[in-house]
Amino acid sequence: MADGEGSVNGLQLCTRWWEASDRGAAILHYILEQVPHIYCLEAEPQPVEEEQQVQEHILYPLECFLFGEDPSDGLQKLEHKNYGSSSQQCGRVFKEGETVYSCRDCAIDPTCVLCMDCFQNSVHKGHRYKMHASSGGGFCDCGDLEAWKTGPCCSQHDLGTSVAMETVRLKLQERAQTLFQVLLCYITDLMVWEEGDELSEEMKMNENTYYCVLYNDEHHSYDQVIYALQRAISCDHNEAHTHTGRRAVKRGTLRTCQQVKDLIRVNSFEHITQQALRVEILHSAVMAHQTFALRLGAWLQQIIGYSVGFRQVFCQVALEPGADSDKPCLISRLMLHDARLYKGARKVIHELIFCSLLMETEYKKQFAMKFTEHYKQLQEDFISDDHERNISVTALSVQIFTVPTLARQLIEEGSVIKVIIDTVMEMLREHLDNNQRFHFQGYNSDKFFRVQVIFHDLRYILISKPTTWTEQLRGKFLEGFSAFLGLLNCMQGMEEVKRQFGQHIEVEPEWEAGFSIQIQLRHILSMFQDWCSSDERVLLLAFQECHRALLRCTNQPFHSEPTDSYMCKHILHKRPYKVSQEPVSIHLPITRLLAGDCHLLSSKMCLLHHFKDALSEHLDFSAFAEHPLRCVVLAAEVSAEMWRRNGLSLVSQVYYYQDVKCRDEMFDKDIIMLQIAASKMDPNHFLMLILLRFELFEVFNGNCSSKDQWNRLTEEMLNLLIVIVGERYVPGISNVTKQDVTMREVIHLLCIEPMAHSSLVKGLPENESHETGLESVIAKVATFKKPGVSGHGLYELKKECLKEFNPFFYHYTKSQHSKAEDAQKKRRAQDGSDKALRPPVPPPFAPAFSSIVRLLCCDVFIHVLRRVLQRAVEERCTLWSEAMIQRSFQDRKRKAEAAKLHRQKIMAQMSAMQKNFIETHKMLYDNVPESGSQERHVAVGPQQGVCPADWEALTCILCQEEQEVQAQAPAMVLTACVQRSTVLTQYRGKTLSTKEGSYPLFMPPDLAVGTHTGSCGHVMHATCWQKYFEAVQNTTRNRLHAELIIDLENGEYMCPLCKSLCNTVVPLIPLEPSKLNYAKLVGEVLTLPRWIQIVVARIKGLRPAQRAGDESKHCSVLVRPKYSSSITEMLVVCATTVHRVGLQTAPNELCPHVPVMTWNTCAYTIQAIENMLQEEGKALFGSLQNRQVRFCILSVVQFSAVQRLKSSQTVTQKHFTDMLPRSALKKSKKNFCIPQVGLVLSIPALYQEENVDLQPSAISTAYNHLHLVQLLTMAHIVQVLLSSHGIDIHNTHLSLSLMSHRLRTSVSGSMMADRVRRGVLPFLRCAALFFNCLTGVPPPEALSNSPDSHLPLLCSYLALPCNLFQLFQEHRDTVTPLIQRYNTEKLSYIKINIVRYPRKRNRLIDLPEDYSVLLNQASHFKCPKSSDDERKHPTLCLFCGTMLCSQSPCCHVQLDGEEVGACTAHAASCGAGVGMFLRVRECEIVLMASRTRGSTYPAPYLDDYGETDPQLGRGNPLHLCPERYKKLQQLWQQHCILEEIARSLEVLNVMFAFEWQML
Ligand SMILES: [Zn+2]
Ligand SMILES: [Zn+2]
Ligand SMILES: [Zn+2]
Ligand SMILES: [Zn+2]
Ligand SMILES: [Zn+2]
Ligand SMILES: [Zn+2]
Ligand SMILES: [Zn+2]
Repeated sequence: MADGEGSVNGLQLCTRWWEASDRGAAILHYILEQVPHIYCLEAEPQPVEEEQQVQEHILYPLECFLFGEDPSDGLQKLEHKNYGSSSQQCGRVFKEGETVYSCRDCAIDPTCVLCMDCFQNSVHKGHRYKMHASSGGGFCDCGDLEAWKTGPCCSQHDLGTSVAMETVRLKLQERAQTLFQVLLCYITDLMVWEEGDELSEEMKMNENTYYCVLYNDEHHSYDQVIYALQRAISCDHNEAHTHTGRRAVKRGTLRTCQQVKDLIRVNSFEHITQQALRVEILHSAVMAHQTFALRLGAWLQQIIGYSVGFRQVFCQVALEPGADSDKPCLISRLMLHDARLYKGARKVIHELIFCSLLMETEYKKQFAMKFTEHYKQLQEDFISDDHERNISVTALSVQIFTVPTLARQLIEEGSVIKVIIDTVMEMLREHLDNNQRFHFQGYNSDKFFRVQVIFHDLRYILISKPTTWTEQLRGKFLEGFSAFLGLLNCMQGMEEVKRQFGQHIEVEPEWEAGFSIQIQLRHILSMFQDWCSSDERVLLLAFQECHRALLRCTNQPFHSEPTDSYMCKHILHKRPYKVSQEPVSIHLPITRLLAGDCHLLSSKMCLLHHFKDALSEHLDFSAFAEHPLRCVVLAAEVSAEMWRRNGLSLVSQVYYYQDVKCRDEMFDKDIIMLQIAASKMDPNHFLMLILLRFELFEVFNGNCSSKDQWNRLTEEMLNLLIVIVGERYVPGISNVTKQDVTMREVIHLLCIEPMAHSSLVKGLPENESHETGLESVIAKVATFKKPGVSGHGLYELKKECLKEFNPFFYHYTKSQHSKAEDAQKKRRAQDGSDKALRPPVPPPFAPAFSSIVRLLCCDVFIHVLRRVLQRAVEERCTLWSEAMIQRSFQDRKRKAEAAKLHRQKIMAQMSAMQKNFIETHKMLYDNVPESGSQERHVAVGPQQGVCPADWEALTCILCQEEQEVQAQAPAMVLTACVQRSTVLTQYRGKTLSTKEGSYPLFMPPDLAVGTHTGSCGHVMHATCWQKYFEAVQNTTRNRLHAELIIDLENGEYMCPLCKSLCNTVVPLIPLEPSKLNYAKLVGEVLTLPRWIQIVVARIKGLRPAQRAGDESKHCSVLVRPKYSSSITEMLVVCATTVHRVGLQTAPNELCPHVPVMTWNTCAYTIQAIENMLQEEGKALFGSLQNRQVRFCILSVVQFSAVQRLKSSQTVTQKHFTDMLPRSALKKSKKNFCIPQVGLVLSIPALYQEENVDLQPSAISTAYNHLHLVQLLTMAHIVQVLLSSHGIDIHNTHLSLSLMSHRLRTSVSGSMMADRVRRGVLPFLRCAALFFNCLTGVPPPEALSNSPDSHLPLLCSYLALPCNLFQLFQEHRDTVTPLIQRYNTEKLSYIKINIVRYPRKRNRLIDLPEDYSVLLNQASHFKCPKSSDDERKHPTLCLFCGTMLCSQSPCCHVQLDGEEVGACTAHAASCGAGVGMFLRVRECEIVLMASRTRGSTYPAPYLDDYGETDPQLGRGNPLHLCPERYKKLQQLWQQHCILEEIARSLEVLNVMFAFEWQML
């Protein structure tokens, strides 16, 4: 161009084009020239630069041309006229996985859907709606008047706000037309361009660069493609990932590209699957133009969106017939080439169609006609296509065929019914046998599946029944009906079976294909009948057509001539046929369709007299009934076990024949046909025919001796007669409504047992809109019982409906029948009412069928009854099947009773054991010795109360032997599970720093990551456990995939009794009874200042020893074998585990941190228990009645207490001296972090230390306890104050001095005091728990009984003054200097993350009540790391509320050198490896622990029927169930997530590892 390299003057270009003689050619020329200068210049695409270039050099000039002026000016004018709205339709195109909504009350059919935004703004929000995940490719129907009965528009697309369609100015229209024409033509040419096609002269370039392009398909997995690529060009992983469906893998000369192509094909062909990957070599110019064509497609979408005028011009251009008469219009060319396009290109084209042709009613019609015209071709392409349907142009059918007006027009003008059926027939032609029947042996299931999709289209077309009929419609409908009969003709009598004698069949015949077609046809059949019934003429003509088709159908011929049969002086002249010997087919669609039509006809009384006139032929009802009767007999014989040698396929067919999925168009129609025949035929003849086909004729004629088999058959036959006479719940057969029918079905389902809503839905037939009618009747017949925290809500039959129970109900299976009968008998026995289950009186037959009752009094029937009764009297009871049935019932009952007894016995044992536990543990508490003074509930200091009994004798759960817990006895151990925890964290997301020097063993007050020790409370001998553990290790190692459940490397095992997951054991240590001699105490008063002096002196004395370092290490505690060797050994085992897990390090029993970690876990566990008790509102000590908690805390405290015996003296001393200064006791230069230290933690730890003081006497221990508690309490109070809100430095000082001066009752003072009391309470509660376990002194009664925290009681238990502030008063001299020092250090403290007291209690995040709010949030979720529009899996962390992009390679990260998904990475920081996530689209909780392990758990959302809905399979509105959410919270807070996972994995018994770490 003349402009050269400089900036493009769009307006100049625009003028030049406008003045050119051929404007289109001028534009095209420019594009052809420019594009290769922008795209495909480098080996790697440069999206940012390319986009900038294309905007500037091409799109901007095009926009200038379109508007004839600066585009922004033009657009403004346009918008001004448009009032900003170009459409009242939403038309949002759904991505795969996007949640869409449909209204059950208002949608014309279930395919009418709304996007999230429209739904939230629509009236349907308050209706009965359904939600589901889109498979992609559809669009929002908001604003489509034909899609909704009411509320067609949301408030955003309200018709009221939309404006009259404006048409763009004439000149603008001319410009648009020129432009769209040349551009769409360009796009089309390039899209349909195929490898090998000649390049147009203008596109040819001198440069000889080629691309080797790889196309994705659905035969090859991602890994396979990577494999092939790596072999061919050694690319890395990322290069193989593409979401557009094709990718250039090589840029180079033609030769190099050819080489790569060959390599890829060879590698994908030889090594992976039979099919080779599709690889093409494209000239770089073609690549460039194709890339630009796609960009243009997106640009056009945007332009069309500006104005309805543009949209209409575009539609005209797209539908304009080609210049040459043989060339179809542009949109047809694109459609017809669809299956050859790659995914990305298809998406652009489809979206362009959505936003143009489908948004304009008039053009939609034209497009629909084109679509119908090409229908066959498109479907054929789709069948051989390797992409999923949602990215095929055939998926557009749902947008077209479901629109009532369009459907009607397509039928009338496009013969669409016939077109669709012809297409199906064409596809299935290859399955026809010589008799023109289908035979699906060896069919290709993938292809077959694609064929079946066409049936959906037929259903769509038939969805809306016409309200008015025209001659044209009648003609076209009947034409379609005939074609349909042609299809049914190929099914009639297909896949015949023949009874196998002697030998079992060798190959199970194929049967699924036939039944899947039957299932597809089910609604279509009933819709055809609905159409017929809406017009009398059509009904009659259809009946005739159907009748003729049946007569023509000769593929199930008789093989012998008619003979006469005599019974009770009646003669039946029939051709013999035996189901048990001749071929029989279960597929009789024409007969059944005829039955439907026939019954419709007879139910219309006015038509009845035309009935025979209309048919010239004589109607042979016995011929109609012949094949249905054979089917019924087949089912009877199978049930009588006469067909056992025919294998499973036959059993399955008979099952489906009567199953709810098929029965309404199979079994039910056969019964109707028999009823029709019974009403039209002579009753004696009818019965004789039945006897003949049941092969019982000779038996009842007395010419044959009885056989067991015949008893079963007789039973089946009598049952059939009961059904024919008694089953009248079909509209038309009797005067019942559809609702009556549904109600009766529901009653009979509930007679079996109380059922959940979803089970009821499954048990009822659905109509074509997936409705069962359940909601309209359920309240009348049943009461709803709400679910508990697990399980689901149930419907129970109302008592007054019990009398409706019919034991002969024809839709019961055998097992349902006996279950229902048992249940009803039981219920009647309970009520003391008559046990006989008499069927209720059926409704009277409609007049056309009233003659059926003649059966009951005809000669043959009487004869049959007489024979049956005679045999019952005469013959032995073994031959009488009723008796046999009775007996079998008895048998079953006996077994059940034995089982029940056994269960009861076990239950009794268990409850006895439980009682035992309670009894024994009570001794620990309640049996305060009489001698001890009752009021001395003091656990600390010289006033310490008496310690009662120790551990009771315990029974080993493995060897069942009893043993006392004694220091010198063999060790008893408690199962335990040590895990890291963030349950108490005040600073979520903070991970444990393991840097040297940061002393990880002090838990900072934010409790970021703690080490929790839990237990299921089961006790074993140490030796028994060791044996068990070794055995488990050995056997599990050999078990397939056992490592998924338990981590052997880390010492995990399952508790032998309750299967809880454990990873260590805690040895039980006997309590050391206090040996205080109170007499001695008198006079000996160790004051606080004096005590501090002593301690400080001692610490000073320790200093040199410490510096001496290692040498001093050996001067540990005197070798004092206080405990037996096995206890000592177990102490090491447990401590090492705590250390390893807590610090995530390699096991090292010599690490000096080992004992410190045990104190750490002791402190953390106590706090976790305190937290749980508070959270659950339980009494501090009362809930320790729970053996599990009690054992756990007791053993952990005792175990921690004796750690000092095992560890190096120096280490403990060092820890102590480190700890003391931090607790504000000692002046030290490095104590700036004083207020931060978790004083609560130091309590347990300090105590152990105190004992280290060489040989502390009982008295000095008591004083140590006393003074430490007092000091720490004071320090904590100061800490609480300092961290309080709204207290600045001066205030602090003031408050403290206030309190030091006995706290005057000023308002601010009392508020402050209150705040302090609340802040200090958790600390005191923990301390009380701790001292209770350490000293064994029973707490005051009130602390065990009521959940209130009795602060005074706590204080006295801990030997603190009831008014805590008295402490400051009493020790004023000691603490005043300390307090002053605090204030000077405050500044540095304030900047740090402040932990306030009481600490906040962590809860799971708040979830919205309505699940669709969550879905809404998720739909707006954008992956932080990628911008592609692929489906994402938004996943919510329930600990902190972060939304993550799960299961997606875009968000994989490296964690300790391993690639993991976003959830695993998040759990590592948020929950110390433990995670609880809600997968929003799947409506499912995922529990995670330790990277490789996870499990799913139902989300705490229930529908109105008290059921969860994993995967949103049912799509009912869901609401939060607070109880269930609370249960999840407990699971978390009680550290049971790991265990829950192990449990569910054990149940599932997974065969392959799910890669949880990739979530
Ligand atoms: Zn919408
Ligand atoms: Zn809307
Ligand atoms: Zn609605
Ligand atoms: Zn044992
Ligand atoms: Zn257990
Ligand atoms: Zn989180
Ligand atoms: Zn992502």
